[in-house]
Amino acid sequence: MRKFKVTGVDCPSCAARIERRLRDTGLDATIDFDLETLIMDDEAVEDLHCLLSHHAPEISIVEPSEGEKDFPFRGLLRLASSITLFVVALLFSPILHGRNEFFEYSLFVIAYLVSGGNVVFKALKNLLRGDFFDENFLMTVATLGAFMIHELPEAVAVMIFYSLGELLESLALRRSRRSVKELIDLRADNVNHLVDGRLKTLPAKEVKPGDRFVVRVGDRIPIDGVICSGRTLLDKSLLTGESVLVSAAEGDVVLAGTINKSGVIEIVATMTLEKSYTSRMLELVQEGSIRKSNRERFITRFSRFYTPVVVLIALFVATIPPLLFGEAFSEWFHKAFIILVISCPCALIISVPLSYFVGIGRASREGILFKGSSFLESLGQIDSVFFDKTGTLTEGRSRITGIESTGRYDKRRVVQYAALLESYSTHPVAIPFTEMISDVPKWMKVSSYSEVAGSGIVAEVNGKRVAVGNKSLLNALGVGFEEGDDSGRVFLVIDERIEGVFTLSDTLRNDSSEAIAELRKLGIKEIVMLTGDHSDRAASISTELQLDGFISEATPEDKMRAVESAIKSGKRTAFVGDGINDAPVIARADVGIAMGSSGADAAIETADVVLSGESLSKVARAIEISRSTNRNAAQNIAAALGVKLAFIALGAFGLMNMWGAVFADVGVTLLAVFNSVRMLNK
Ligand code: ADP
Ligand code: MG
Repeated sequence: MRKFKVTGVDCPSCAARIERRLRDTGLDATIDFDLETLIMDDEAVEDLHCLLSHHAPEISIVEPSEGEKDFPFRGLLRLASSITLFVVALLFSPILHGRNEFFEYSLFVIAYLVSGGNVVFKALKNLLRGDFFDENFLMTVATLGAFMIHELPEAVAVMIFYSLGELLESLALRRSRRSVKELIDLRADNVNHLVDGRLKTLPAKEVKPGDRFVVRVGDRIPIDGVICSGRTLLDKSLLTGESVLVSAAEGDVVLAGTINKSGVIEIVATMTLEKSYTSRMLELVQEGSIRKSNRERFITRFSRFYTPVVVLIALFVATIPPLLFGEAFSEWFHKAFIILVISCPCALIISVPLSYFVGIGRASREGILFKGSSFLESLGQIDSVFFDKTGTLTEGRSRITGIESTGRYDKRRVVQYAALLESYSTHPVAIPFTEMISDVPKWMKVSSYSEVAGSGIVAEVNGKRVAVGNKSLLNALGVGFEEGDDSGRVFLVIDERIEGVFTLSDTLRNDSSEAIAELRKLGIKEIVMLTGDHSDRAASISTELQLDGFISEATPEDKMRAVESAIKSGKRTAFVGDGINDAPVIARADVGIAMGSSGADAAIETADVVLSGESLSKVARAIEISRSTNRNAAQNIAAALGVKLAFIALGAFGLMNMWGAVFADVGVTLLAVFNSVRMLNK
């Protein structure tokens, strides 16, 4: 499935018409009128632009970058001219008043339309669609009412302040988006080329259509292409939102952003990185806006019943006193309009989502990517944090500290076999081996390959069964060995015999204990380590970092079950990990966090939060940012509701004039926007 932003779809029935025409050409397309998107099931349409210009000339595809680059010049211009007109109108109104009322009105009406025309237009459009009672409607009724009762400057001021709020909002969004984009760009994509049977790493941006590259298990496919050898299961959840594994084999089209889950495949590129990458980035930002926080959802639901209630109250105020107590109609009409102006829910509708977006932007400036406001919201409420060990608490790359040959092969050959196998792996243990790949002779060829998550690799090399991995892999293969201290040890097995033993360093990251201390300071109750590694090593790290507990020799399922039972017992959990074997538990935890720079793509794509760089202290920092964003949103809700309720009450008793109402509406909106933006600059 592919999505494109389009322009030129004017009405729902136009969308249906265009859709029908495209279907007649054999293209399975859906047009979403509200979101202005074209969704296609066909994965590779040769030339969409050409097709559209023939069969649907009225719509055009918006390039993803366009929306992000443009500075809101138009909004700024509109606001400036409206303010100028407003000032002119204010200066001349004492002279014109009573003499040339038509001219006086015209000046204010023009100023009003320049800044508020689109609000009125939107209100009318929604009204025609049967969609009453949104904030546009409220503002239109209230300001038109203000005109009716001769409160001209107030009506214009409402619209001017509202546009100012919108402009500030779009500026803040733009800044946040840019930081998110910069953070995503930081992750340099590499591809692996198969040259003479060896994998060579190359920057993905050098790949041209027609080039071949190999995708290892756990890697994200960086460029659109067609599989030319191998078969595997692909996880397309990033593209489709559904987490189902799809099997793919030779001849199948694969899209950038898909995760390779089970087998090594070779792909012929059909796109360049730029083209594949942009689409993925757009996806990410959109995804962020879809997963709304509870507070945002509350606001949407809230305004649905809030607006009708307010309109009813205003109606009562306008009619009951005059009808029952014979009061003057005009006076109570006036009060009713004041209530309408006060009660406009703009402050809530604009500022709460803005708080979260600004929070996301600020986090990304510090190298923390939140994939949606709901995660930003829930991370602040976490009380248990689970850590993976290898690559998370310990460094993202191991070093080989000892090589031993124990059988028929010399040391050099032992290293060659291990390096060949590890070059297909994305595990941190594999990195130092991969660096010795150039020493592997050309005749050694891998013919089948599979990775056992948390244990190692099994493959076939020139007809020999070769395996590299830890003790649990030896157990799985039924290879006998002497018990001993085998923490940090990796074995090479050829045809069921141990041929080599490697000792690997597994040093703690230098900020691990600091990161744990910071979490304690934030009041996190439980910090536990879940590792696939040996229990001796796990125990010594757990003591060193003073963790609350650990589970060792854990399979991916064990890790998931540990977090699951914590969730069942009412804890709010976060899991921080880096490997393919962490992907299931990252998905299961309330908030899944992945190490961005050394982590496997499978972990990064499943995660809700991605930490760039090698610093573990960012976990605590992310929680802090989340908490301060939640606070900020709560402040905005409380301030907006508090001021509004107080002013409505005053208005109902007639103790409020139009300027007070303007403050309650747009003044509070502006304050809330400033309050959110303040967070960006902290
Ligand atoms: P953790 O859960 O702590 O991140 P893993 O489950 O990823 O650790 O790995 C646990 C152990 O499995 C490693 O310490 C290593 O001994 C072994 N292992 C996993 N993958 C590989 C591999 N590709 N090559 C060699 N050993 C591996
Ligand atoms: Mg790990």
